Amino acid sequence: MTKLIDGKKISQEIKEEIKLFCNKLKEEEKQLPGLVTILVGNNPASFSYVNSKAKTCNEVGMISKVEQLDESTSEDELISLIKKYNSDEKFHGILVQLPLPKHINESNIIKSIIPEKDVDGFHPVNVGKLVIGEDTIIPCTPYGIIELLKRYKIDTSGKHVVVVGRSNIVGKPIANLLLQKKEEANAIVTVVHSAAKNISYYTKQADILIAAIGSPNFIKADMLKNEVVVIDVGINRIEDKNSTKGYKIVGDVDFDEVSKIASYITPVPGGVGPMTIAMLLKNTLIAYKLLTNN
Ligand code: NAP
Repeated sequence: MTKLIDGKKISQEIKEEIKLFCNKLKEEEKQLPGLVTILVGNNPASFSYVNSKAKTCNEVGMISKVEQLDESTSEDELISLIKKYNSDEKFHGILVQLPLPKHINESNIIKSIIPEKDVDGFHPVNVGKLVIGEDTIIPCTPYGIIELLKRYKIDTSGKHVVVVGRSNIVGKPIANLLLQKKEEANAIVTVVHSAAKNISYYTKQADILIAAIGSPNFIKADMLKNEVVVIDVGINRIEDKNSTKGYKIVGDVDFDEVSKIASYITPVPGGVGPMTIAMLLKNTLIAYKLLTNN
Protein backbone atom coordinates (compact mmCIF):
# COMPACT_ATOMS: atom_id res chain seq x y z
CA MET A 1 0.00 0.00 0.00
CA THR A 2 1.22 3.50 -0.82
CA LYS A 3 2.64 5.40 2.13
CA LEU A 4 2.32 9.14 2.36
CA ILE A 5 5.51 11.06 3.14
CA ASP A 6 4.26 13.64 5.61
CA GLY A 7 6.41 16.76 5.20
CA LYS A 8 4.23 18.73 7.58
CA LYS A 9 4.89 16.27 10.40
CA ILE A 10 8.64 15.97 9.72
CA SER A 11 9.07 19.74 9.39
CA GLN A 12 7.32 20.11 12.76
CA GLU A 13 9.76 17.60 14.31
CA ILE A 14 12.73 19.56 12.93
CA LYS A 15 11.34 22.85 14.23
CA GLU A 16 10.86 21.27 17.67
CA GLU A 17 14.50 20.09 17.66
CA ILE A 18 15.66 23.63 16.79
CA LYS A 19 13.38 25.11 19.46
CA LEU A 20 14.92 22.82 22.09
CA PHE A 21 18.39 23.96 21.05
CA CYS A 22 17.38 27.64 21.23
CA ASN A 23 15.72 27.13 24.65
CA LYS A 24 18.95 25.61 25.94
CA LEU A 25 20.92 28.61 24.62
CA LYS A 26 18.47 30.92 26.41
CA GLU A 27 18.84 29.02 29.68
CA GLU A 28 22.61 29.28 29.41
CA GLU A 29 22.24 32.99 28.57
CA LYS A 30 24.12 32.48 25.32
CA GLN A 31 23.64 34.42 22.11
CA LEU A 32 20.70 33.24 19.95
CA PRO A 33 20.88 32.44 16.21
CA GLY A 34 19.73 35.36 14.05
CA LEU A 35 18.39 35.52 10.50
CA VAL A 36 17.97 38.67 8.45
CA THR A 37 15.74 38.51 5.39
CA ILE A 38 15.98 41.20 2.75
CA LEU A 39 13.06 41.89 0.46
CA VAL A 40 13.28 44.32 -2.44
CA GLY A 41 10.01 45.59 -3.92
CA ASN A 42 6.38 44.72 -3.37
CA ASN A 43 5.86 41.28 -4.91
CA PRO A 44 2.91 39.93 -2.84
CA ALA A 45 4.10 36.29 -3.01
CA SER A 46 7.61 37.27 -1.86
CA PHE A 47 6.13 39.42 0.89
CA SER A 48 4.12 36.49 2.20
CA TYR A 49 7.16 34.10 2.02
CA VAL A 50 9.32 36.57 3.94
CA ASN A 51 6.70 37.07 6.64
CA SER A 52 6.15 33.38 7.07
CA LYS A 53 9.93 32.81 7.38
CA ALA A 54 10.17 35.54 10.04
CA LYS A 55 7.17 34.13 11.93
CA THR A 56 8.63 30.61 11.96
CA CYS A 57 11.99 31.97 13.15
CA ASN A 58 10.27 33.62 16.11
CA GLU A 59 8.30 30.46 16.88
CA VAL A 60 11.50 28.44 17.39
CA GLY A 61 13.15 31.19 19.42
CA MET A 62 15.55 32.62 16.85
CA ILE A 63 16.17 36.33 16.30
CA SER A 64 14.67 37.50 13.04
CA LYS A 65 14.70 40.76 11.18
CA VAL A 66 13.09 41.76 7.90
CA GLU A 67 14.60 44.55 5.79
CA GLN A 68 12.02 45.75 3.31
CA LEU A 69 13.52 47.90 0.59
CA ASP A 70 11.93 49.98 -2.12
CA GLU A 71 11.61 48.54 -5.65
CA SER A 72 13.95 51.32 -6.87
CA THR A 73 16.84 50.23 -4.59
CA SER A 74 20.04 50.05 -6.63
CA GLU A 75 22.36 47.04 -6.80
CA ASP A 76 25.08 49.04 -4.99
CA GLU A 77 22.69 50.00 -2.18
CA LEU A 78 21.64 46.39 -1.73
CA ILE A 79 25.25 45.18 -1.69
CA SER A 80 26.13 47.84 0.93
CA LEU A 81 23.32 46.56 3.15
CA ILE A 82 24.45 42.94 2.72
CA LYS A 83 28.03 43.94 3.61
CA LYS A 84 26.72 45.55 6.79
CA TYR A 85 25.07 42.26 7.78
CA ASN A 86 28.13 40.24 6.72
CA SER A 87 29.95 41.84 9.64
CA ASP A 88 27.02 42.11 12.07
CA GLU A 89 27.62 39.47 14.74
CA LYS A 90 23.94 39.40 15.79
CA PHE A 91 22.98 37.78 12.47
CA HIS A 92 24.31 34.40 11.33
CA GLY A 93 22.12 33.98 8.27
CA ILE A 94 21.39 36.42 5.44
CA LEU A 95 18.64 35.64 2.97
CA VAL A 96 17.83 37.83 0.00
CA GLN A 97 14.35 36.95 -1.24
CA LEU A 98 14.33 36.09 -4.94
CA PRO A 99 13.32 37.08 -7.57
CA LEU A 100 14.89 40.54 -7.50
CA PRO A 101 13.78 43.50 -9.63
CA LYS A 102 15.24 43.26 -13.16
CA HIS A 103 17.80 46.07 -12.69
CA ILE A 104 19.59 44.05 -9.98
CA ASN A 105 21.96 41.24 -10.98
CA GLU A 106 21.01 38.20 -8.90
CA SER A 107 24.39 36.54 -9.25
CA ASN A 108 26.26 39.64 -7.93
CA ILE A 109 23.93 39.72 -4.93
CA ILE A 110 24.37 36.03 -4.10
CA LYS A 111 28.16 36.43 -4.32
CA SER A 112 28.14 39.46 -2.00
CA ILE A 113 26.88 37.37 0.96
CA ILE A 114 29.76 35.71 2.78
CA PRO A 115 29.51 31.92 2.24
CA GLU A 116 29.30 31.30 6.02
CA LYS A 117 26.05 33.32 6.21
CA ASP A 118 24.58 32.12 2.90
CA VAL A 119 21.66 30.17 4.39
CA ASP A 120 20.12 29.61 0.94
CA GLY A 121 23.27 27.71 -0.09
CA PHE A 122 23.43 29.52 -3.43
CA HIS A 123 26.93 31.05 -3.15
CA PRO A 124 29.36 29.49 -5.68
CA VAL A 125 31.68 28.46 -2.80
CA ASN A 126 28.86 26.50 -1.13
CA VAL A 127 27.69 25.06 -4.46
CA GLY A 128 31.26 23.94 -5.23
CA LYS A 129 31.63 22.28 -1.83
CA LEU A 130 28.32 20.47 -2.34
CA VAL A 131 29.49 19.12 -5.70
CA ILE A 132 32.80 17.80 -4.32
CA GLY A 133 31.06 16.33 -1.27
CA GLU A 134 32.43 18.65 1.44
CA ASP A 135 30.32 19.75 4.42
CA THR A 136 28.55 22.95 3.47
CA ILE A 137 25.28 24.86 3.58
CA ILE A 138 22.87 22.93 1.34
CA PRO A 139 20.01 24.71 -0.51
CA CYS A 140 16.85 24.37 1.59
CA THR A 141 14.56 22.41 -0.76
CA PRO A 142 17.08 19.66 -1.72
CA TYR A 143 18.14 19.49 1.94
CA GLY A 144 14.46 18.97 2.84
CA ILE A 145 14.20 16.12 0.33
CA ILE A 146 17.30 14.41 1.78
CA GLU A 147 15.81 14.75 5.26
CA LEU A 148 12.46 13.26 4.17
CA LEU A 149 14.18 10.24 2.58
CA LYS A 150 16.34 9.80 5.67
CA ARG A 151 13.51 10.04 8.22
CA TYR A 152 11.32 7.65 6.22
CA LYS A 153 14.33 5.29 6.00
CA ILE A 154 14.15 5.14 2.22
CA ASP A 155 17.37 3.55 1.00
CA THR A 156 19.00 5.40 -1.89
CA SER A 157 22.24 3.42 -2.20
CA GLY A 158 22.47 1.78 -5.63
CA LYS A 159 18.95 2.95 -6.46
CA HIS A 160 18.19 4.69 -9.74
CA VAL A 161 17.04 8.23 -8.98
CA VAL A 162 15.56 10.15 -11.90
CA VAL A 163 15.36 13.91 -11.35
CA VAL A 164 13.12 15.80 -13.76
CA GLY A 165 14.29 19.44 -13.84
CA ARG A 166 17.78 20.96 -13.70
CA SER A 167 17.32 24.27 -11.89
CA ASN A 168 20.11 25.61 -9.70
CA ILE A 169 17.83 25.61 -6.65
CA VAL A 170 16.35 22.10 -6.90
CA GLY A 171 17.30 19.78 -9.78
CA LYS A 172 21.08 20.25 -9.92
CA PRO A 173 21.73 20.27 -6.15
CA ILE A 174 19.50 17.26 -5.36
CA ALA A 175 21.13 15.29 -8.21
CA ASN A 176 24.60 16.14 -6.90
CA LEU A 177 23.69 15.35 -3.29
CA LEU A 178 22.29 11.92 -4.10
CA LEU A 179 25.29 11.12 -6.28
CA GLN A 180 27.82 11.44 -3.42
CA LYS A 181 29.59 8.32 -2.23
CA LYS A 182 28.08 8.73 1.22
CA GLU A 183 25.50 7.22 3.51
CA GLU A 184 22.00 8.45 2.63
CA ALA A 185 23.14 9.04 -0.98
CA ASN A 186 25.21 6.75 -3.25
CA ALA A 187 22.47 6.65 -5.88
CA ILE A 188 22.67 6.20 -9.65
CA VAL A 189 21.34 9.54 -10.85
CA THR A 190 19.78 10.59 -14.16
CA VAL A 191 18.75 14.20 -14.74
CA VAL A 192 16.07 14.85 -17.35
CA HIS A 193 15.04 18.23 -18.75
CA SER A 194 13.06 19.82 -21.53
CA ALA A 195 15.42 18.61 -24.26
CA ALA A 196 14.49 14.98 -23.55
CA LYS A 197 12.53 13.63 -26.53
CA ASN A 198 10.86 10.78 -24.64
CA ILE A 199 10.70 11.53 -20.92
CA SER A 200 8.90 8.27 -20.10
CA TYR A 201 11.92 6.31 -21.33
CA TYR A 202 13.83 7.74 -18.36
CA THR A 203 11.09 8.08 -15.75
CA LYS A 204 10.02 4.44 -16.22
CA GLN A 205 13.46 3.37 -15.00
CA ALA A 206 13.20 5.31 -11.73
CA ASP A 207 13.27 3.59 -8.35
CA ILE A 208 12.97 7.12 -6.95
CA LEU A 209 11.44 9.90 -9.04
CA ILE A 210 12.01 13.55 -8.11
CA ALA A 211 9.86 16.02 -10.06
CA ALA A 212 10.90 19.69 -10.07
CA ILE A 213 9.37 20.93 -13.29
CA GLY A 214 6.74 23.59 -12.57
CA SER A 215 4.05 21.92 -14.70
CA PRO A 216 0.80 20.83 -13.01
CA ASN A 217 0.12 17.04 -12.88
CA PHE A 218 2.79 16.44 -15.55
CA ILE A 219 3.98 13.02 -14.31
CA LYS A 220 1.32 10.34 -14.93
CA ALA A 221 1.11 6.77 -13.65
CA ASP A 222 1.95 5.25 -17.05
CA MET A 223 5.31 7.09 -17.00
CA LEU A 224 6.42 5.18 -13.89
CA LYS A 225 6.97 1.65 -12.68
CA ASN A 226 5.10 0.07 -9.79
CA GLU A 227 6.42 0.65 -6.27
CA VAL A 228 8.35 3.79 -7.27
CA VAL A 229 9.13 6.37 -4.55
CA VAL A 230 7.84 9.77 -5.67
CA ILE A 231 9.05 13.14 -4.41
CA ASP A 232 6.97 15.96 -5.87
CA VAL A 233 8.60 19.38 -5.56
CA GLY A 234 6.17 21.24 -7.82
CA ILE A 235 3.89 23.97 -6.54
CA ASN A 236 1.38 24.96 -9.20
CA ARG A 237 -1.84 26.94 -8.99
CA ILE A 238 -4.72 25.61 -11.08
CA GLU A 239 -8.30 26.82 -11.44
CA ASP A 240 -10.76 25.24 -9.01
CA LYS A 241 -14.35 26.39 -9.23
CA ASN A 242 -15.22 24.47 -6.02
CA SER A 243 -12.77 26.49 -3.96
CA THR A 244 -13.73 29.89 -2.56
CA LYS A 245 -10.32 31.16 -3.69
CA GLY A 246 -11.01 29.98 -7.23
CA TYR A 247 -7.82 27.92 -7.38
CA LYS A 248 -6.00 25.04 -5.74
CA ILE A 249 -2.36 24.04 -5.40
CA VAL A 250 -1.16 20.87 -7.14
CA GLY A 251 2.24 19.33 -7.72
CA ASP A 252 4.09 18.25 -10.86
CA VAL A 253 2.83 14.71 -10.29
CA ASP A 254 -0.74 13.55 -10.91
CA PHE A 255 -1.30 12.50 -7.30
CA ASP A 256 -4.65 10.73 -7.86
CA GLU A 257 -3.16 8.40 -10.48
CA VAL A 258 0.38 7.99 -9.17
CA SER A 259 -0.54 7.39 -5.52
CA LYS A 260 -2.20 4.14 -6.70
CA ILE A 261 1.10 2.64 -7.93
CA ALA A 262 3.81 4.30 -5.81
CA SER A 263 5.31 2.79 -2.65
CA TYR A 264 5.84 6.25 -1.14
CA ILE A 265 4.68 9.67 -2.31
CA THR A 266 4.82 13.26 -1.07
CA PRO A 267 1.49 15.11 -1.25
CA VAL A 268 1.17 18.69 -2.51
CA PRO A 269 0.59 20.65 -0.37
CA GLY A 270 2.09 19.10 2.76
CA GLY A 271 5.11 17.28 1.32
CA VAL A 272 8.33 19.05 0.28
CA GLY A 273 6.90 22.57 0.75
CA PRO A 274 6.87 22.71 4.58
CA MET A 275 10.38 21.22 4.65
CA THR A 276 11.90 24.19 2.84
CA ILE A 277 11.28 26.65 5.70
CA ALA A 278 12.31 24.08 8.33
CA MET A 279 15.63 23.55 6.52
CA LEU A 280 16.16 27.32 6.30
CA LEU A 281 16.02 27.40 10.10
CA LYS A 282 18.34 24.40 10.25
CA ASN A 283 20.78 26.19 7.91
CA THR A 284 20.65 29.28 10.13
CA LEU A 285 21.52 27.05 13.07
CA ILE A 286 24.41 25.47 11.11
CA ALA A 287 25.70 28.95 10.20
CA TYR A 288 25.36 30.01 13.86
CA LYS A 289 27.36 27.00 15.07
CA LEU A 290 30.00 27.61 12.41
CA LEU A 291 30.37 31.29 13.32
CA THR A 292 30.15 31.05 17.13
CA ASN A 293 31.55 27.58 17.92
CA ASN A 294 28.46 26.98 20.10
P1 NAP B 1 12.61 26.03 -12.99
O1 NAP B 1 13.81 26.82 -12.63
O2 NAP B 1 11.57 26.63 -13.86
O3 NAP B 1 13.11 24.67 -13.67
C1 NAP B 1 12.22 23.76 -14.23
C2 NAP B 1 12.99 22.62 -14.85
O4 NAP B 1 12.05 21.71 -15.40
C3 NAP B 1 13.91 23.06 -15.97
O5 NAP B 1 15.15 22.39 -15.86
C4 NAP B 1 13.17 22.64 -17.24
O6 NAP B 1 14.02 22.23 -18.29
C5 NAP B 1 12.42 21.42 -16.73
N1 NAP B 1 11.24 21.21 -17.54
C6 NAP B 1 10.24 22.09 -17.82
N2 NAP B 1 9.32 21.53 -18.62
C7 NAP B 1 9.75 20.27 -18.86
C8 NAP B 1 9.25 19.21 -19.63
N3 NAP B 1 8.12 19.32 -20.33
N4 NAP B 1 9.95 18.07 -19.65
C9 NAP B 1 11.10 17.94 -18.96
N5 NAP B 1 11.63 18.91 -18.22
C10 NAP B 1 10.96 20.07 -18.18
O7 NAP B 1 11.84 25.50 -11.72
P2 NAP B 1 12.31 25.23 -10.20
O8 NAP B 1 12.66 26.51 -9.56
O9 NAP B 1 13.25 24.09 -10.13
O10 NAP B 1 10.89 24.76 -9.61
C11 NAP B 1 10.22 23.63 -10.10
C12 NAP B 1 8.89 23.50 -9.37
O11 NAP B 1 9.14 23.32 -7.99
C13 NAP B 1 7.99 24.74 -9.45
O12 NAP B 1 6.64 24.32 -9.43
C14 NAP B 1 8.30 25.50 -8.18
O13 NAP B 1 7.22 26.31 -7.74
C15 NAP B 1 8.51 24.35 -7.23
N6 NAP B 1 9.39 24.66 -6.10
C16 NAP B 1 8.94 24.24 -4.89
C17 NAP B 1 9.73 24.44 -3.79
C18 NAP B 1 9.24 23.95 -2.47
O14 NAP B 1 9.61 24.47 -1.44
N7 NAP B 1 8.42 22.90 -2.46
C19 NAP B 1 10.97 25.10 -3.88
C20 NAP B 1 11.40 25.48 -5.15
C21 NAP B 1 10.60 25.25 -6.27
P3 NAP B 1 15.03 23.26 -19.02
O15 NAP B 1 16.16 23.45 -18.07
O16 NAP B 1 15.44 22.51 -20.24
O17 NAP B 1 14.25 24.49 -19.28
